[in-house]
Amino acid sequence: MLSTESHTPDDFEQVVTCDDPHSGLRAVIAIHDTRLGPALGGCRMWAYDHPSEALADALRLARGMTCKAALAGLPLGGGKAVLMGNSRHDKSPSMLRAFGRMVDSLGGRYITGEDVGITVEDMAVVAAETRHVGGLAGGSGDPSPVTAAGVFHGIRAALHHRYGSDDLHGVRIAVQGLGHVGTHLCRMLHAAGAELVVTDVVPDALGRAVIELGARVMPPADIVAADVDVFAPCALGGAITADSVPRLRAGIVAGAANNQLATPDDGLALQRRGILYASDYVINAGGLINVAWDVLHRGEAYDRDRVLAEVANIGPRLRDIFARAEREGRSPHQVADAMARERLHLAEAA
Ligand code: NAD
Repeated sequence: MLSTESHTPDDFEQVVTCDDPHSGLRAVIAIHDTRLGPALGGCRMWAYDHPSEALADALRLARGMTCKAALAGLPLGGGKAVLMGNSRHDKSPSMLRAFGRMVDSLGGRYITGEDVGITVEDMAVVAAETRHVGGLAGGSGDPSPVTAAGVFHGIRAALHHRYGSDDLHGVRIAVQGLGHVGTHLCRMLHAAGAELVVTDVVPDALGRAVIELGARVMPPADIVAADVDVFAPCALGGAITADSVPRLRAGIVAGAANNQLATPDDGLALQRRGILYASDYVINAGGLINVAWDVLHRGEAYDRDRVLAEVANIGPRLRDIFARAEREGRSPHQVADAMARERLHLAEAA
């Protein structure tokens, strides 16, 4: 059933593919780097048009997990799994169990968890075949409120660096995407006195934000040009593009979404415009820090206060990155990448 991909990219440790006609499982597990520890990264199920797209997604996401764990100071590496198929129609217990056996065959070098298209209940099925699973019910649970807490600290750190104060009273913030993280983030920002402008392609959560949080709603296509202090991308990746950078009026981009920069050049374009960018994998590491509890404290009861104390370090970490970026005349995303590489090299040398 298992086959190790013969053309594993140079900077990856291992890429394993599976095509199992009995269960219908078609999957890729990419282990990018385990120098700091076992590779932790969720399992995504998506209806990719072609296996090459699934592979590209797994590689991109696994690489991002290495940087995220390294910068969060966790003794964990980066990896990711993707299952090919529509999570509504194609998923089955036998497929999930086959995936569990695939994870188990890696002997703990890769630890899986939930991601887009995969639920906590699905992970319980996977866990019947392997113990290398995080984020199960009874453990760290839904990461979204913890991710939102990290983004909240990150926004305050960015405000402090850019404007000399992290007081949120009267600060205007545009939140793109009122999903799991965006909704929690809006509540925290509102409670701290921020003025909210919100958008979503699905209107469900918008009404509540207007009534409960006094938010103003903008059409999805316009939010990037909102007259605000902070633009917080909390939807899908790729919000910062060659088209959107010139339209931004915010002085800060700081939000939860993964892969916010469509290309690294877009980070440089933000820098040229004097817009401070809170690197995505630094500011949104709260979810990873949360699920890492399950992996690093096996057998111990989940302690939300300790996790949140760890997540609060995202603020000072970003302030260090902003200061170094300014000193070195580089953009924060370049400095974050450099710091991740430095931590990996140190681990190798130790
Ligand atoms: P979600 O699916 O619950 O929410 C995303 C929201 O964005 C949805 O309401 C969706 O309708 C909306 N949306 C999609 N396209 C949009 C567009 N073009 N304009 C406006 N709204 C749009 O996801 P989530 O769990 O809240 O995660 C949000 C982002 O944060 C994702 O990029 C995710 O990868 C990242 N992230 C999440 C976590 C976590 O703990 N959930 C952790 C780290 C990173």
